[in-house]
Amino acid sequence: MTISGKTKLLGVIGHPIEHTLSPAMHNAAIEQMGLDYVYLPFPIPPDRLGAAVEGFAAFGLVGFSVTIPHKQAILPLLSEVTPEAQAVGAVNTVWRTENGWKGTNTDVAGFIAPLQNYSDWSDRMAVVLGNGGAARAVVAGLTQLGCAEIHLVGRTPKKLETFVRHWKNSPMRVNLKVHTWDTLPNLISRANLLVNTTPVGMSPHVDRSPIEPELFDKLPPNSIAYDLIYTPNPTQFLKLAWERGATAIDGLEMLVRQGAIALEIWVGQTVPVDVMRQRLKQHLGLDR
Ligand code: NAP
Repeated sequence: MTISGKTKLLGVIGHPIEHTLSPAMHNAAIEQMGLDYVYLPFPIPPDRLGAAVEGFAAFGLVGFSVTIPHKQAILPLLSEVTPEAQAVGAVNTVWRTENGWKGTNTDVAGFIAPLQNYSDWSDRMAVVLGNGGAARAVVAGLTQLGCAEIHLVGRTPKKLETFVRHWKNSPMRVNLKVHTWDTLPNLISRANLLVNTTPVGMSPHVDRSPIEPELFDKLPPNSIAYDLIYTPNPTQFLKLAWERGATAIDGLEMLVRQGAIALEIWVGQTVPVDVMRQRLKQHLGLDR
C-alpha cells in the first residue's frame, strides 16, 4: 500500500480501539482492489466525539466505522440516518454526503447476509438468546427477512421490558415476543433458527454454552444455529448444535459481511468478501 497526497482516508472510531479487527479486514480488501484508500484506527474519547466528527469533515475523511462507546452518541451529530439505524437506535457506519454525515447500521444486513441462502422465512420461527445491543440488530434483521415469529429470551425481566419499549418507539414494526429463560425448552422445540447474542462461550470461557447440551436435542430437523461470537470458532454452542444436525453459522461471517457492506458504501463498488474473511481468520489465528 503506497500512501500519497491523493490517498483517501477511512477509519474506525472507538475508545479503546487498540484491539479493533477492522483495519486488517478493510485494508486487505483495499489492497486487493488496488484502491488509493487507507483505513485507520482513531481512538476518540467520549468527550471529544463532536470535535472529532467536525475535524473529519474538515480534512475530507470519506467515511468511518463506529464502535463502543460511540454507537448511540453519534446519532445527533449526523444529518441523516437510515431506517435500519433508526430502528436499532445505533450507528456503526458513517459516510460523507452533500448534506453532511449519513449513518447506517450494517450489522442488520451483515446478520441477514448468510441467512438469505436459506429459503423463505415467512413461515419460520426464530429464537434469539440475549437482549443487548446486538440483539436489536438481530431482531431488525429477522424483521427485514420477513421471519414469521421472533421470540427473544432474556434473563432480566426489567431489561426485557426495556427491550420491548425500544421497539414501541421505533419506526420499524416488529412482531416480537419476549420470554424469560425458563420458557426456552418449549420454544426450542419449534425453532427453525436459534441465535446466540449473549457473550457466553467467548474466549477464554470456551467450554461454556448459553444453554444446556440436552436442550439442543429438542431442535427440530434442518434448523440453523447462529452464534454472534467470533472467537473461539466454532463456539461450544455451535459445536453442540452441529452435532445434533443443525446448520452452523458463526459470528465471523456476520463480522465480515457487515464490514463488506460498509466498504461498499464508502468506495461505491463490490468488494472481495473472501479476502476480508481470509485476513480476519489470519488475524485471529483461525486459518491453521
Ligand atoms: P450486550 O449489549 O452486553 O448484551 C449482552 C446480552 O447477553 C445481554 O442481554 C445480557 O443479559 C446477556 N447475557 C450476558 N451474560 C449472560 C449469561 N451468563 N446468561 C444469559 N444471558 C447473558 O452485548 P452485545 O453488544 O449485544 O454483544 C453480544 C455478543 O455479540 C458479544 O459476544 C459480541 O462480541 C457479539 N457481537 C458480534 C457481532 C458480529 O459481527 N459477529 C456484532 C455485534 C456483537 P442482561 O441484559 O440480563 O445483562
